[in-house]
Amino acid sequence: MEVLPEALQHLRGQVAIVTGASRGIGRAVALALATEGAKVVVNYASSGEAAEKLVAEIAAAGGEAIALQADVSQLEQVEALVEATMQQWGRIDVLVNNAGITRDTLLLRMKTEDWQAVINLNLTGVFFCTRAVSKVMLKQRSGRIVNITSVAGLMGNPGQANYSAAKAGVIGFTKTVAKELASRGITVNAVAPGFIATDMTHDLKAEGILQFIPLGRYGQPEEVAGLIRFLAADPAAAYITGQVMNVDGGMVMA
Ligand code: NAP
Repeated sequence: MEVLPEALQHLRGQVAIVTGASRGIGRAVALALATEGAKVVVNYASSGEAAEKLVAEIAAAGGEAIALQADVSQLEQVEALVEATMQQWGRIDVLVNNAGITRDTLLLRMKTEDWQAVINLNLTGVFFCTRAVSKVMLKQRSGRIVNITSVAGLMGNPGQANYSAAKAGVIGFTKTVAKELASRGITVNAVAPGFIATDMTHDLKAEGILQFIPLGRYGQPEEVAGLIRFLAADPAAAYITGQVMNVDGGMVMA
């Protein structure tokens, strides 16, 4: 990665938390925000080594980052994450709610634990992080929040009743919170990736998904991070709030 010259950095002196940044899309987002000069909190659940490696990569390029472990489905751990960020850097300007899991299976086979695990992280985790961080942003009277949803939350997907319900929930949550926080200069948007090549989709690749993607290929994490970087960092995104934007190679055209 390359950190932009100071004069070109949109997030110079600002602080960003990216949940689930040790791998996949979150990792690419952390790198993109560090490029913009943000001090980045690389949150992870269990991949401590990968998170520290990313922090070292950012530091080697002249950026700043720290790795903080927290299961963001757990309220106390979210509060500790926000507290540790404030102790370290004293402000929070960007929150990217990216951490997510799948527990795919058809409805009749879906265990209650599969339902709850996905809702607890993919929806309740977004609520916990947004509520905790927005307290800080409200005092600052500025902030940018980007929630990662999914095309599954827009159109449904067999085997993903839990996941699509959580991701659809994130969309409603995004719109409501965008309305509540707008008067304090905080924008809240959602990004809906289609099929992105990460660990999450690794085992699905054989299933003939390409025929549903007009651009004829899987997306890369960096291609999702590009839009998130714009929404989180660019002055040109200041008037965009409450929106859901797809990065899906044309899978869903509303
Ligand atoms: P991934 O490669 O599986 O990475 C998931 C990340 O979330 C990892 O950094 C993981 O940390 C972290 N995580 C898992 N459980 C966590 C927890 N309880 N607390 C905090 N962090 C946790 O996934 P991805 O494909 O990059 O997906 C990122 C986001 O994009 C998710 O919200 C996903 O639903 C969404 N999305 C992905 C696709 C796709 O095609 N890949 C499509 C639509 C939406 P550890 O490494 O420590 O486990």
